[in-house]
Amino acid sequence: MTRADTPTGPPPWRLLLGYVRPHRWALLAGAVLSLVTGATGLLLPLVARELIDDLSHDRAIASALLLMTALVVANATLGAIGSYVLRRTAESVVLGARRALSSYLLRLRVAAVDRSEPGDLMARITSDTTLLREVTTDSLVGLGTGGLTLVATVVMMGLVDPVLLGVTMAVVFGAGTVLGVIVPRINRASRQAQDAVGAMGASLERVLGALRTVKASGAEHREERTLHAAAEESWRQSVRAAKWSAAAGNTAGLAMQIAFITVLAVGGARVATGAIDIGTLVAFLLYVFYLMSPIQSVVGAITQYQTGAAALSRIQEALRLPAEPRSPAAALPADDAEPAALAFADVRFRYAEDLPYVHHGVTFAVPPRGMTAFVGPSGAGKTTVFSLIERFYDPESGTITLDGRDLADWDLPRLRSAIGYVEQDAPVLSGSLRDNLLLGNAETDEDTITRVVKTTRLDGLVARLPDGLDTLVGHRGTKLSGGERQRVAIARALLRRPRLLLLDEATSQLDAVNEAALRDTVADVARTTTVLVVAHRLSTVTMADRIVVMDAGRVRAVGTHRELVTADPLYAELAATQFLAAAD
Ligand code: ADP
Ligand code: MG
Repeated sequence: MTRADTPTGPPPWRLLLGYVRPHRWALLAGAVLSLVTGATGLLLPLVARELIDDLSHDRAIASALLLMTALVVANATLGAIGSYVLRRTAESVVLGARRALSSYLLRLRVAAVDRSEPGDLMARITSDTTLLREVTTDSLVGLGTGGLTLVATVVMMGLVDPVLLGVTMAVVFGAGTVLGVIVPRINRASRQAQDAVGAMGASLERVLGALRTVKASGAEHREERTLHAAAEESWRQSVRAAKWSAAAGNTAGLAMQIAFITVLAVGGARVATGAIDIGTLVAFLLYVFYLMSPIQSVVGAITQYQTGAAALSRIQEALRLPAEPRSPAAALPADDAEPAALAFADVRFRYAEDLPYVHHGVTFAVPPRGMTAFVGPSGAGKTTVFSLIERFYDPESGTITLDGRDLADWDLPRLRSAIGYVEQDAPVLSGSLRDNLLLGNAETDEDTITRVVKTTRLDGLVARLPDGLDTLVGHRGTKLSGGERQRVAIARALLRRPRLLLLDEATSQLDAVNEAALRDTVADVARTTTVLVVAHRLSTVTMADRIVVMDAGRVRAVGTHRELVTADPLYAELAATQFLAAAD
C-alpha cells in the first residue's frame, strides 16, 4: 500500500471516536479528576491563608496542620487517580484498535495480502496503534478541557467589553490563518514518518525471511543500507514534524502577546474617550492572560492530533482492504460424511486486472471418491485450481461447483471445513508438533493422532524428538526437513477428516520409501474421500483414476495414463521425460 492509493473517506477522527466511544465515561472521569486536581491545587494557598488567620484565634495548631496535610494528600491522590484513569483509558483505546485490526487482518482476502507488504501491515497494528495513546490523552482531553476554559473565558471577555473582545478575536483569527498553513505540514510529515516505519517493517521482514539467502549472496551491506535509509527517512520526517509543531506552539504564544499589546493600545484609547473605565481595561487584560493557557493547550491538542491522524489514516487504509465476511467457524465433517463432487465450468481467472489471464476457460469434472491427478508444465495453472477451490480468489467468469452448488453460494467456513488442503511448500508454524497437527482440528483424540502419525510415517520422527509430539518445531524449535514438513502438512490435512483432499506436490520431497508409503495412504483415503493431487511422479500419476492435463491455463485432455500416453503428445512427452526423471 502506497501513499498514491490513499483513498478518501470519512475523516480519521471518526475512526478515533469509534475506538474511544466504549471508554467515554472513563475518559470523562479522568478528565474531570484532572481538572478538579488542578482547581483544588489553586485553592490550596487560600485554604492555607484561612487556616493561618484562624491560628490567631484559639484553634489548635495541630488540627490546622492536620487539615492541610489531609487536603494536600487528597489532592495528590486525586491527581494520581486522574492520570492513572486517563492513561488506562488511552491504553484501552490502543487495545481496541489492535484487536479490531488483528481480527480484520486475519479475514483479509488473499488477493489483498498478495498486494500488500506484510511488514508494513504489521507496523500498522503495532506501531501506528501506539500513537493513539497520546492522541486520546493529550488531544481529546486537551481539546475538551482547553476548549471549555476557552469558551468560558471568551464569554467573560464579551461581558466585560465586546469591542475589546473583537480586537482580541481579530488577532486570534490572524494566528489561526498562520496555523492553518502549518498544521497540514505536521500531518504530512507525520504520515511520511509512519510510512517510513512501515517501509522499515517491510524491509526487515524481507531480510529476516530470507536471511540465509541474503548472507549466502553477500548482500548484508546492501540490505543494511535499505534498512538504514528507512530509519533515517522516519527520523527526517519526525524532525520536520517537530519543527512545524514548535512553530505552531510559538505562533500561538506570539499571538497572545500581540493580543495583549493590541488590547492595551485600543483599550487605552477607549479609556481616554471615556468609553470604558480603567478597571474594565485591567479586568479585560487579566482575561487575555487567562486565555493564554487554554489556547496553548488547544493548539497543542491540534498539533498532537496530526501525528495521530496520520496513524489513524494508515489504520483506516488497512481496514479498507478487501476482507472475507465475518461468520462463525463451521464444524468439521462427520467421520462418515459423503465425499464431495467438484466441477469447473469454463473458468476464466487472473490474479489482478493488470496481470494476464492464468485460466482461459478451465473445464473439468470430478465425481465423488477416487483420485484425480493434475499434470502439466510449471506455470500451467494447477496450483491456481486449488486456490480457486479454497476461494482464496474468485473466478472472473465461469462457475466452480462443489456438490453441484456454486462456491459463491457456500458459507465460506463451511466450504473450507469440507476441504483438507496441503499447499505447495506448506509451512510448519512455530509451536509444538502437536499444535501443528491439530491446527485444523483441535478436538482430535489421542488415538486418532497416533493412527494418523503412523499412516503418514511421522512415528519415527516423533520417537526421535526429545519431547515427542510436544517438541517445539518451526521458528523457535527443532527445524524439520522438507520431507518431514510435507508429512506434517499431510497429517494436518487428514486430521480434518476432509470430504475433499487437495495435495499440491505434497510428496515431492519425500524419499522413495516414504513416498511409496504415503502413496498407499493416499490411495486408501481416496476410497472414502475425493482426492485431487498435483504430482510430478509417474508412480503417483499412474495410479490416479483420471488425469487432467493442463497447459497454459487450459485443460488439454482428461483420461487415464494408458489413454493419454497415446492420445496426448504433451502428456506422452511429460511421461517420457519429467515423470520418469522424478520417479525413483
Ligand atoms: P502451476 O502450479 O501449474 O505451476 P500456478 O497456478 O502456480 O502454476 O501459476 C500459474 C500462473 O499464475 C503463473 O504464471 C504464476 O506466475 C501466476 N501466479 C501464481 N500465483 C500468483 C499470484 N499470487 N499473483 C500473481 N500471479 C500468480
Ligand atoms: Mg504449483
